[in-house]
Amino acid sequence: MKRRLSLKLKLTLWFTGFMALTAALCLGLILLISDSVATNETRSLLSLSVRANLDRVRLTDGRLQLDADFQYYADDTYMLIYNRDGALLSGQAPPSFPVDTALENGVTKFVPGKSDTFCVLDFYLPSGWTDGIWLRGVRAAQNSSQTVDNVFTIFSIVLPFFILLAAAGGYLIARRALAPLSHITEVAGQISEGQDLTQRIGLPEGSDEISRLSSAFDHMVARLEQAFEAEKQFTSDASHELRTPTAVILAQCGFARKHAETAEDYREAVEVIERQAGKMSLLISRLLDLTRLDLGTQTPQCEPTDLSEMSRILCEEQDTGARGISLSAQIEEAVIVPGDPFLLSRVITNLLENARKYGREGGQIRLSLSREKDEAVLAVEDNGIGITPENQDKIWQRFYQVNPSRGPEAGLGLGLAMTKQIVALHGGSIGVESRPDEGSRFTVRLPLAAPGDPEKKAEKISSGH
Ligand code: ADP
Repeated sequence: MKRRLSLKLKLTLWFTGFMALTAALCLGLILLISDSVATNETRSLLSLSVRANLDRVRLTDGRLQLDADFQYYADDTYMLIYNRDGALLSGQAPPSFPVDTALENGVTKFVPGKSDTFCVLDFYLPSGWTDGIWLRGVRAAQNSSQTVDNVFTIFSIVLPFFILLAAAGGYLIARRALAPLSHITEVAGQISEGQDLTQRIGLPEGSDEISRLSSAFDHMVARLEQAFEAEKQFTSDASHELRTPTAVILAQCGFARKHAETAEDYREAVEVIERQAGKMSLLISRLLDLTRLDLGTQTPQCEPTDLSEMSRILCEEQDTGARGISLSAQIEEAVIVPGDPFLLSRVITNLLENARKYGREGGQIRLSLSREKDEAVLAVEDNGIGITPENQDKIWQRFYQVNPSRGPEAGLGLGLAMTKQIVALHGGSIGVESRPDEGSRFTVRLPLAAPGDPEKKAEKISSGH
C-alpha cells in the first residue's frame, strides 16, 4: 500500500517549495527588468556619443575632415566612418565586430559578434547632391548593469541557504504546531491498549482547533468512563442482589418438586416464588432507574414545578392511616422550582414512605415546605426508630439498610440513593438529622425558579446535566 507522507513533512515541503518558487520568481523578475534597463542604457549612451560626433566630421570636396575634438573611441563607444558605398574609410572597431554589417540611417540595432553582441547606430552625412559619408557608433551591448550582476551573484549564493532555512523553520513550526496531535494520538493509543479510561489529554483550555479537539476528546472519554462505571455498577449490584431471590426461588422449586404433597404445599411454594419474583422485578426496575440517572440518559424533563401542590397531593395519597400513623403538613403556597415533576414526586414519596416504614406505631409524620432566600426547603420528619450517627452517612449508599427486614414492607436499600441522586441532578442538597428512638428529619433544599424566568432556569438544569 502506498505510504502517505506525514502532515508535518507535507507542510514543510509545501512551505519550502512555495518559498523557493517565490525567490525564483523574484530573481527572474530582477533579471528581466535589469536586462531591459541595461539595453536602454546602452542605446541612450550610444546615441549620445554618435550624435555628439555628427558635427565633428564632414566630407569637403571629397576629402574627409575631422574636428580636433572628434574621438574614435570615447566612453566605451567606437566610431567608424564609411564612404557612401559602405567601404570603411577610417575608425576603430571593437575586436570581433563584423565591420561589413549593412548600414541603415538612424537605426539602432543589435549585431551579434564572435564573442559579444554589439549595439550599432548609423547616420548618413550627405555632402552635396551625390556624395556623403556614414558615421557608425558601436558599443558592446551590456547584458546587465554591475549592480544587477552583484544582486544576481549574492542571490545565487544566498538562495540555497535561504531555502534551507525556510525548510528548517517550516519543519520546526509544523512540528511545534502538531505536537499536541502526537500527544492526542499517544493518549488515544494508551486508552485503547490499556482500556484505561481515566487517562486524559489535559491540554490547557484555548480557542484554537487543537485545544477544542482535546477538550472534546476528554469530554468523550469522561462520558465513556461514566458509562463503563455505570455498567459495572449495574452488573455488580444486579448480580449481588439477584442472587438471594434466585436462590430462594430455586429452593422453593426443588422443595415443591420433591416434598410438596398437598395443594396447600404447592400454593405456599408458589406464593414464595411470586414474592421473590416481584422483588426481583422491582429491584431490576429500580436498578435501571439508577443506571439511567448515572448515565444521564434519563434526562430530566424540566419545567416550572409547583412543589406546594405536589406535596399536598402526595400527602393525601400517603395519609393512609396505616400503623396508626398520622400525617400533618405545613405547606407554603406556590413554591415553584425548575425540575422534572416525575423525579421530584419520587423524592417526596420516598421520604414519606420511609417515614411511615421507620416511624413509630401510632406516631406522627410532619411535612413542611417553605421558601428560604432563593431555595425551596422541604422537610419530612417522623418520631420513629431514628438512625445512629455512624449510620447517617451510610444510608445514602446503594443497598445499605440499617436493619435489613424481610417482611412485606421490606425495602431494597435503593430509595435514599436514588433520592440523593435526583436532588443533586436538580442542583440541590439533602441531609438528615436523627436520634435513635426519637425520630429523623430529612431536609431537601432545591434552587427556586428565578422570578420572571423559571423556564430559563429549567432549561439550565436540563442542559447542565
Ligand atoms: P429502604 O427503605 O428500601 O431500605 P432506603 O435507601 O430508602 O432503603 O433507606 C436506607 C436505610 O436508611 C433504610 O433501610 C433504613 O435503615 C434507613 N432509613 C431511611 N429512612 C429512615 C427513617 N425515616 N428513619 C429511620 N431509618 C431510616
